Amino acid sequence: MNRVQNLRSVARALVIVSLISVLSVSHAHAFTISGQKFPNESTDYRLDTSYTGSGTGWASVGNGAFADWGATGFAFSSNSGSNTQVVAGNYCSGNLGCTSRLPTVLNPNIIYYFVVYINTYGGFAFYDGTQSPTLPSNYYDLRTLMRHEIGHGIGLCHTNYGTGYLMSTQIAQGVAIGTDADATDGENHIYNGTSPGPSGSCI
Ligand SMILES: [Zn+2]
Repeated sequence: MNRVQNLRSVARALVIVSLISVLSVSHAHAFTISGQKFPNESTDYRLDTSYTGSGTGWASVGNGAFADWGATGFAFSSNSGSNTQVVAGNYCSGNLGCTSRLPTVLNPNIIYYFVVYINTYGGFAFYDGTQSPTLPSNYYDLRTLMRHEIGHGIGLCHTNYGTGYLMSTQIAQGVAIGTDADATDGENHIYNGTSPGPSGSCI
């Protein structure tokens, strides 16, 4: 092989390597799912007074978090009679929040409704938009927590990506995360099959 052929081989190898890296980026996914889903890509919800009474900004934060998911495809509508609800109190065994999915009687994989719990007894400082113009470094962003728990409500488990994603196992103080690509890939996989499958079993 002469020098020109060598260079061509190197160039070809570089093209292949860069193609693989592009493919792996565009198909990267790390979400995991529970195996439960709503029958349709919509449901209603209500904010319990235990939640709305926990802070002056809590109602708008809660409604905003549901609207954030609505913007990515799963439609939520406010309904004071909804079984899907958000409550606050002494829940979640010391965690910031937690979510229960309640399946239908006939099918354990079909979600009838879910309940998001926000732990207001853990001594956590939740930022609801009223404490300062921007998220302080020593506050947990309530809207991020709500987005995370709603993600569980529609069927997502945690991501295998580690920290810094909406569906990471932990949320850090001073960090706000929107409905990111990993979370919406999971949503799209569950509800319309337009994303690759999960990266493993539910975590
Ligand atoms: Zn979680």
